[in-house]
Amino acid sequence: MAEDFEVDVVCAGAGACGLLAGLRASENPALVVAVLEKSTREGCNAQVSSGSLAAGGTRFQAAAGIEDSPARHAADILAENGDERHRPLIEALTAVAPRYVHWIADDLGYPLEVGVDMTRHGISVPRLHADPLRRGGGPLVSHLRRILAERPNVALLDEAPVTGLRVEGSGPDARVVGVTARQSGADLTVSARTTVLATDGFAGNRALMREFCAELGDPFHGGVSTATGDAVAWLRDLGAEFRNMGACLRHGQVTLHGTRVNPNLPWLGAVLVNTRGERFVDEQAYGYSGLAPHVAAQPNERALMVWDDEADLVASHSEMMRDSAKAGALGSAPDVVTLAEEAGMEPLLLDRALEPVSGRRRLVAPFHYAWLTHGVLTTQGGAAIDTHGRVLRRDGSTVAGLRAGGGTAVGLAGPDSSGYSSGNGLLAAMGMGWIVGNDLAAGLT
Ligand SMILES: Cc1cc2nc3c(=O)[nH]c(=O)nc-3n(C[C@H](O)[C@H](O)[C@H](O)COP(=O)(O)OP(=O)(O)OC[C@H]3O[C@@H](n4cnc5c(N)ncnc54)[C@H](O)[C@@H]3O)c2cc1C
Repeated sequence: MAEDFEVDVVCAGAGACGLLAGLRASENPALVVAVLEKSTREGCNAQVSSGSLAAGGTRFQAAAGIEDSPARHAADILAENGDERHRPLIEALTAVAPRYVHWIADDLGYPLEVGVDMTRHGISVPRLHADPLRRGGGPLVSHLRRILAERPNVALLDEAPVTGLRVEGSGPDARVVGVTARQSGADLTVSARTTVLATDGFAGNRALMREFCAELGDPFHGGVSTATGDAVAWLRDLGAEFRNMGACLRHGQVTLHGTRVNPNLPWLGAVLVNTRGERFVDEQAYGYSGLAPHVAAQPNERALMVWDDEADLVASHSEMMRDSAKAGALGSAPDVVTLAEEAGMEPLLLDRALEPVSGRRRLVAPFHYAWLTHGVLTTQGGAAIDTHGRVLRRDGSTVAGLRAGGGTAVGLAGPDSSGYSSGNGLLAAMGMGWIVGNDLAAGLT
């Protein structure tokens, strides 16, 4: 069975980028928009994410007395990733971030606030926005999907993987004219004036990880399994340029149960100790992505994170800590001797490791702890794009009829995973979805 559709815009992928692109494009009632989603079984990475939206210069920050701006946000990202080549892209994304954060809160009615309790490495002022209950990205994505599905000019097709691009012409004259897909055993042919690739990266594809990120070995994958880099082959066929393909959003605070602890913990005094009882890193010197190789270098690729009640009071207000507690990844001990016994360490060595280093406070018993390892959440390399999401070939020309954003496109970590700043993932995805959707609604195809 085969079915043919004709629309103005087709988005491949209903995650952070595809939802924003679809929502913004469909604000123009004259446009017909189709959004095709491969699988809703696990949800997209935005759905399993913490849902922390990085934006500089919001009304939420102003109300909290925080001075920030898109320029400061861009400067912070560039200071971390050193990726001057992508300065225009970074500036374009940080410029729109406060706009879509306001729109999500004020127009779409999703509760957001600035997380003054969300300190992260490389973020000079509080700028991560989240819902007040810190429920993670799930409720936000459900909210966006519900609004999109209700639009009369939108077809949101679930369990409908895009299987390829429809291309007319070849070489520099190639033009994307839609996609092919499958749903309920039927082949779908979708014709569209503009195709938006929003299928995320390839962290769930071992062959592509081996090809581009071989030095990471075979790390734990903490993202959804649908991130199989389907768009890589399609983009290759079009002669697209790929950039920063070795960079990932890594995480050095993954529990042995696969959950994560609150990345704020190091700023609340938490200490990291390896199985030999050695404090091996300055816990505040790296973001969670930059911390990953340091944890990976420890015996058995693991480390014990220890914190106290004072830290726990703040850190536990997070879906990551709730998930970790539910998974049985968090422990507690009344004193150092019991903690050492439970961790299988020498009490004297552990006691010495917990001594505060200069400028840090002393942890006070009772203690909380979690055994941590490292993992990859998403990839950060992808198709080269301009500031409007147009896909670039190696000769600098753009592919007609095609836009890309989020994990399908080059991310904001720069060439190395250590350049990833918290909030970069959803910024690249939602920011480019917003830009592309607005362009399309305005008739700029
Ligand atoms: C555990 C975790 C926590 C994170 N926390 C944060 C955070 O707090 N803040 C932040 O900024 N970033 C965070 N990130 C990163 C962020 O979630 C991603 O960078 C972001 O979701 C990427 O957006 P996207 O639209 O490219 O992909 P996604 O949101 O993953 O959406 C892509 C969609 O495309 C679909 N798809 C794939 N292939 C096809 C196909 N062939 N046809 C149709 N559909 C397809 C997928 O099923 C998926 O639904 C986190 C990531 C993880 C894994």
